[in-house]
Formats: sequence, C-alpha cells, structure tokens
Amino acid sequence: MDAADMANQQVELIERLGVEQAHTNAGRRELVPMGACHWCNEPLRRPNQLFCDEGCAADHADDKRRNGVMR
Ligand SMILES: [Zn+2]
Repeated sequence: MDAADMANQQVELIERLGVEQAHTNAGRRELVPMGACHWCNEPLRRPNQLFCDEGCAADHADDKRRNGVMR
C-alpha cells in the first residue's frame, strides 16, 4: 500500500463517519443528499454524502441543537 492508497482510505473513513454522524445527529429529520455539503456547500464526490467531513456534520448538528433551544 502506498501513501496515496492510505490517503484514500483516510478520506473514505472520514466520509463514512460524516454520513453516519449526520444520520445520528439529524434525529427524526433525515437530510437528503444533494451532491454538496449541507453545511458549507462544498461539492461532494459521492452522491449519498451529506457533509464534506465530520466537522461540517458536527457544526450542522450543533447549529440545529442551538436553534432548537431558542434562547
Ligand atoms: Zn462542508
């Protein structure tokens, strides 16, 4: 395995984590994959991806939580 392969695996893992985390955090409302990150609108390579990375998924979930509290 060379460095490029390892980098690829890393990206795949992050993508999978982002999607899974998004599903977990989204709760009842499921986001629909739209080919771009739901948080920063970055174009995504995978058609079923919701966020470009887990940071965006977390930020999105965080924002939702904050809006739900409504201070
Ligand atoms: Zn993003």
